[in-house]
Amino acid sequence: DNDNSLSAKGTPELSSIVVLSEIVEKVRKAFRSGITQPYEFRLSQLKQLHKLCKERGEELAAALSIDLRKGDFESYVCEIELIKAETEHAMRNLKTWMKPEKAGRTTTSIMDTVQTVADPYGVALIISSWNYPVHLTLMPLVGAIAAGNCVIIKPSEMAPATSETLNKLIPQYLHQACYKVVQVGPKETEVLLSEKFDYVFYTGSSRVGQLVYSAASKHLTPVTLEMGGKSPVFLDDTCDLRLATERILWGKLVNAGQTCIAPDYVLCSQNVQSRFVEMAKEVINKFYPNGPRSSPDLCRIINEKHFRRLRELLGDSEIAIGGEVDENERYVSPTVLTNVKETSKIMQEEIFGPILPVICVDSPNEALNFIMERSPPLTCYVFSTRRDVQDAFVRGVTAGSICINETCSIIIVNSLPFGGVGSSGIGAYHGKYSFDTFSHKKSILIKDYNYITDSVIRLRYPPYTQLKRQL
Ligand code: NAD
Repeated sequence: DNDNSLSAKGTPELSSIVVLSEIVEKVRKAFRSGITQPYEFRLSQLKQLHKLCKERGEELAAALSIDLRKGDFESYVCEIELIKAETEHAMRNLKTWMKPEKAGRTTTSIMDTVQTVADPYGVALIISSWNYPVHLTLMPLVGAIAAGNCVIIKPSEMAPATSETLNKLIPQYLHQACYKVVQVGPKETEVLLSEKFDYVFYTGSSRVGQLVYSAASKHLTPVTLEMGGKSPVFLDDTCDLRLATERILWGKLVNAGQTCIAPDYVLCSQNVQSRFVEMAKEVINKFYPNGPRSSPDLCRIINEKHFRRLRELLGDSEIAIGGEVDENERYVSPTVLTNVKETSKIMQEEIFGPILPVICVDSPNEALNFIMERSPPLTCYVFSTRRDVQDAFVRGVTAGSICINETCSIIIVNSLPFGGVGSSGIGAYHGKYSFDTFSHKKSILIKDYNYITDSVIRLRYPPYTQLKRQL
């Protein structure tokens, strides 16, 4: 079939609208056949996904290199190997996850079987982003498969090489009627969203998240929205500055800052700011001994539009480190901005690039208030050895997660749910949380025909005599 001929640009053709609708219908038919329900089927598909990552890792890494000039190390560590680990975890636990869960008996169900069963929603739509195009597409897919759904997978048109590779590989490994990749752009995705899905799992900006939510609401379809925002870092005077700087800069520079949980900006005292800048110079030199530009380990910005946006953001701030840009290569050097004002351009939007502004505050409390006056971040980072400071942020900051003395590696702890709150997201996933996300918990009550209990049950039937009322 010619699904792949769908244009990624411009207004959707009537033919593509029809094609999309047919794809959804075919996938729905596959779900209705019940094929994805048995444990054995789900396990076999997870095995296949694992095999895809194992056997075709090089092709995926090559595509990531084309789209983001991502080096092999980051491609494997942040994308391919993570999916393998998530798949292994799901395979190991699938049987347990699928077991009916006993629920507590109540007075009226004392003799009954009371339990919940994890039921697949049906046909799920996964819409993913371009920054970790393998990870963000396949990670939710693991949960969707484990939970027994059929899936339509919509990778991002902004990472075309990876999208094409997934489109080529997924049908070679996974059941073709149950899991279908559609390579389409925003306009067609809007059309796709007018179809009825049973679950929509979206990763991307909050702006598009709103559109997705609104389209899903027309069918009352439940959603998970994995979005972003400005994830702050608070650095206090007690932290180990070398370790903190290394961890912050790694989190900022991995994928050239194009990471949803990248530390967006630093809050610290004037004194810590000057020590941080000195330390940051050392750390950057250590990360890229021959200079960041010639290093194979620093990604490039995804496209011209984002490159220009970042160059614009540098405009009205004091550059302490870096600040070099090259449009031909879409290169932005690791950059630290100091004494940044909250009114400056860089503080008005999620940066999504290797630029780190520092804003001076006088106390942990001022930092906490600064964060709480803004939209809830996906993650809030705190570097401090003071227990009271750690506790104040853990309790006082609304965020998807709080991470103390560390940055992005929180995402690989799959015993923790990953997701935002407020404008940074709705719902969460990873590990068992992914299985739960893609399952409806169906309540089951089983009574038997027991004449002793029935003599109590029949008290509820009319006529409601005086005697029954007194009981
Ligand atoms: P985006 O919103 O432009 O695109 C995301 C997806 O939505 C793509 O697949 C795209 O094709 C689709 N899309 C675009 N316009 C659409 C429309 N009008 N209707 C329907 N679908 C449409 O986002 P982006 O620029 O690719 O991603 C950057 C943002 O995503 C950042 O805010 C980042 O923080 C966030 N993000 C979040 C996570 C997370 O896990 N929470 C991960 C990565 C990125």
